[in-house]
Amino acid sequence: MEEKKIVYQNNKIIPESILNEAKIALSYYPDLEDIEIEFRFKEDIKKSFMQAQPKVSNLFKGKDSRSYYIFMSSKFLIEEEEFSMADVPSDVLIGWLGHELGHIMDYREKSAMGLVIFGMRYVTSSRYIKEAERAADTYAVNSGMGDYIIATKDFILNHSHLSESYKERIARLYLSPEEILVLVNELEERLEEAEKEES
Ligand SMILES: [Zn+2]
Repeated sequence: MEEKKIVYQNNKIIPESILNEAKIALSYYPDLEDIEIEFRFKEDIKKSFMQAQPKVSNLFKGKDSRSYYIFMSSKFLIEEEEFSMADVPSDVLIGWLGHELGHIMDYREKSAMGLVIFGMRYVTSSRYIKEAERAADTYAVNSGMGDYIIATKDFILNHSHLSESYKERIARLYLSPEEILVLVNELEERLEEAEKEES
């Protein structure tokens, strides 16, 4: 059965089951208000739970007229146990969506050709993956989503339902909770300094 989809901000298409979480995550990204994003469940995402990518059909239309997908896996890592969106706590889901929106912020800065090259390197180079994941988390933390991002990391790294190979992949390629805390602290220091300058 097709899930009901809601149009939000005139340009976001969101499945009803994640509407609240998506709205909260989007509220941290006012820069994305005019950007078209379709959140869509997909059966066969390779190796990840969610994936943000530009729509190929309007990739070359110019940075501001591009639109994006956030694909989400309805079922995840079916090894011995099945793991679905319904098993994910709300805060973790918000953090996950916030991370994907961070990828879109990063994609917005790139040219179309840059994105094509990025797509190819992302598949072949683990150094490139690390850089992209760091960029996404950095956008999310700097947007004020640090607590959510940490909740998501903790969930992934400590959740017994996820396979060891997935946890190992996350630990190898993604920022650790400690690295996220460093970003949060840096942000706090910058904000404090900005406040000092203002007063
Ligand atoms: Zn990512």
